[in-house]
Amino acid sequence: MRVPFTLDHPARAQPKERAANNLSDAQAVLLASSPVATDDCVGIIRLEHVTKAYEEAGKQRIVLNDVSLSFGCGEFVVLLGKSGSGKSTLLNLIGGIDTPTAGDVWIDGQPITRMNDTERTLFRRRNIGFVFQAFNLIPTLTVRENVMLPLELAGRPAAHVRRRAEELLEQVGLSHRIDAFPDRLSGGEQQRVAIARALINDPLVVLADEPTGNLDYETGKQVLELLDTLTRRAGKNLVMVTHSEEVVGVADRVFRLRDGKLLEDHLPLAHSLTSTA
Ligand code: ADP
Ligand code: MG
Repeated sequence: MRVPFTLDHPARAQPKERAANNLSDAQAVLLASSPVATDDCVGIIRLEHVTKAYEEAGKQRIVLNDVSLSFGCGEFVVLLGKSGSGKSTLLNLIGGIDTPTAGDVWIDGQPITRMNDTERTLFRRRNIGFVFQAFNLIPTLTVRENVMLPLELAGRPAAHVRRRAEELLEQVGLSHRIDAFPDRLSGGEQQRVAIARALINDPLVVLADEPTGNLDYETGKQVLELLDTLTRRAGKNLVMVTHSEEVVGVADRVFRLRDGKLLEDHLPLAHSLTSTA
């Protein structure tokens, strides 16, 4: 499916015009309440001259080459690029899982690249939620325990953690599976648990790395709608690596990684999709 509108000024700027186009149901849902950025809310995620290089067989391989960018509050950003282009590397740098070879990453005014490992881990636990393609649930913990884990690590009182996990599991429609172990759940259910886990700390930023990559189309659509409802509409930043055309069509901004550079996509969508790997 191709969507016949341009990405030139994205969803946030022209929601009505875009809604008037032939959007699918899923797109209409995703567009329904896109937040509006204000001038004092620029730069919640900021990369300054970020370079990431790996050493391979004595040779340096530059994956990200002097990347600078800034995202506003509540923006929904999609990252595109071929396999191996550095999408996961970039998400991991934004999330403080990895550190750049050069340059700085700022989240909400905090320079996470200048923190030591302990500070960065604590910052990440408080402010970042991750959703991965392979769900990454801990198999020996129940659904409830998986969701509780980040808040438990943050040392919050047990009763509060338990209540919050139950609320989130209700929001993702999994109250009835709360005591199940992950291997008893379908892929879509596991990803819904992972979304609840990503949100339990009420993070500023949610990073999703191909969250529907292991799911069939219908299940993937439900997961995307849930992510949208629980993140973007709650004013959180959502940065997603995805190949879903519907998501690309409703994102606030679309970036493409190629040859270590991050380019913002202002091309008409049909053209963009044709050239996506
Ligand atoms: P993508 O998510 O776009 O598929 P990645 O960010 O996972 O790409 O990887 C980008 C490139 O960096 C790939 O060539 C990959 O092999 C390389 N790479 C990623 N992690 C490491 C690592 N820890 N050591 C060496 N090379 C790595
Ligand atoms: Mg990847």
